[in-house]
Amino acid sequence: MATTKLVLITFAICRLILTVGLTVDPTELLRLVVDGQLSVDPSDVDTASKDFGLMSRAAPLAVLHPASAQDVAGLVRAAYSSPHGFTVSARGHGHSINGQAQTNNGVVIQMSGGSLRSGRPAQAARVSEKGMYVDTWGGELWIDVLRSTLEYGLAPKSWTDYLYLTVGGTLSNAGISGQAFNYGPQISNVHELDVVTGKGQLLTCSEEQNSELFQAVLGGLGQFGIITRARIALEPSPKRVRWIRVLYSNFSAFTKDQEFLISLHGQPSSQKFDYVEGFVIVDEGLINNWRSSFFSASNPVKITSIDSEGGVLYCLEITKNYDESTADTIDKEIEDLLEKLDFVPTSVFTTDLPYVDFLDRVHKAELKLRAKGLWDVPHPWLNLFVPKSRISDFNEGVFKGILGNKTSGPILIYPMNKDKWDQSSSVVTPDEDIFYLVALLRTALDTGDETHTLEHLTNQNRQILRFCVDAGIEVKQYLPHYTTQEEWMDHFGDKWARFYKRKMEFDPRRILATGQRIFSPSS
Ligand code: FAD
Repeated sequence: MATTKLVLITFAICRLILTVGLTVDPTELLRLVVDGQLSVDPSDVDTASKDFGLMSRAAPLAVLHPASAQDVAGLVRAAYSSPHGFTVSARGHGHSINGQAQTNNGVVIQMSGGSLRSGRPAQAARVSEKGMYVDTWGGELWIDVLRSTLEYGLAPKSWTDYLYLTVGGTLSNAGISGQAFNYGPQISNVHELDVVTGKGQLLTCSEEQNSELFQAVLGGLGQFGIITRARIALEPSPKRVRWIRVLYSNFSAFTKDQEFLISLHGQPSSQKFDYVEGFVIVDEGLINNWRSSFFSASNPVKITSIDSEGGVLYCLEITKNYDESTADTIDKEIEDLLEKLDFVPTSVFTTDLPYVDFLDRVHKAELKLRAKGLWDVPHPWLNLFVPKSRISDFNEGVFKGILGNKTSGPILIYPMNKDKWDQSSSVVTPDEDIFYLVALLRTALDTGDETHTLEHLTNQNRQILRFCVDAGIEVKQYLPHYTTQEEWMDHFGDKWARFYKRKMEFDPRRILATGQRIFSPSS
């Protein structure tokens, strides 16, 4: 076993020497990565070459399964100090759409999945009940973070809809879900990070210590360093969730109610919902919407009988958390809030479930799709932040216009409060107090129907972006994807100069996360 490992590592080093002119002493590199495993196993390389989007592919020379933050630092230091350099990309769970975690001819650091030897993450999660936080490994999946904190009756405050994503991967973007109106995105709920910079330095950073690095890394698209540890804020975990969906045929009534609900963020918890999202139902969209099984058995007739405006319905999705102490009052609290809303009266769909089952809801849909062979297929997803002042134009032009009556997957829409987003982080949002996430989460299929093909959906995405430019709707892409630096400069706008300066400071050889295609490595 040990001999095989040595042969594989030596082979990986030889490839690095031949391909990128690596001139660090191979024995030095061997020593540096000896705790983890540098692998050139074809199946490892193949996994690191792909992502959830299944639309782009780039094969690394080797894959590092780190056993510690020092392994990560050692490899990045080797890459940084090599005369020609080589690229290094952290890969969380590979759930990007456009190759953001990939790298050609460099090394991918596989942060999730644990060390090959122990199967455990390089750093076990540690909960502080007194400090109300958890310290987690950067490659930890959120589902595992939740499992660790629940042992103490605690849970993180801000989520993504899907929990099989890594801490480092979502913090490199923002991490949003229906709690963001109240708590801000996940990046607003981090106290401290350990980060390996592009120079291979392992630094602890927070608002107080190395604050420039801290702010750069949050929403930083992996450009400034690799997160090896994150300290995440916790709250007492609710026990159960009342999960409610109501329908609207009128878009302005729908958005007015969503905006009203997020305006309650400063109110006591008894007077607001804990989660506010929504989605668009475009004709046959309900059938294709893998998040809509919720409606199915109990009330299918009601949906079809609602008169929709131009074939489009809007669904508000809200939840209220509760436990034994609030079980008696929750019905009244929900009733009082629903009374203030203007949905179609007959369209209330309610379910009640444990908090964990609610948080892990998308995984159930994943298992069903996997069973049908519909998970490992191309996903030409498009996520946009749309300013509140133009959301109605977006509705007319996209939901009722460009999409026709076919969606090919769920379309989420919900507003967030900009003051919950730290403007000193790297993330970019529209320049308005309230902006909407519009997530077109579509799946390309070879069904013989031209409108389901990857080409059709990709063209439609381009058409949507062009429509926004032509109509002067200043959207910002979330999980952005561009291929030229000019487009990136446009994306960052007046934040570009700071982004560039931070890059030169923390990753001057531009070796990190080249799959984002923002910078090319210097030779
Ligand atoms: P990867 O795809 O592996 O990496 C993403 C980027 O981060 C890459 O550039 C990579 O180099 C970098 N990176 C990875 N790990 C680190 C690290 N430790 N340090 C520094 N950089 C790192 N997003 C939301 O906000 N809300 C949602 O509700 C949501 N739901 C989703 C549901 C599904 C089914 C999928 C596929 C994605 C969803 N996403 C959602 C998007 C998701 O947050 C991003 O795609 C995220 O990047 C995926 O995390 P990952 O761990 O797979 O990262």
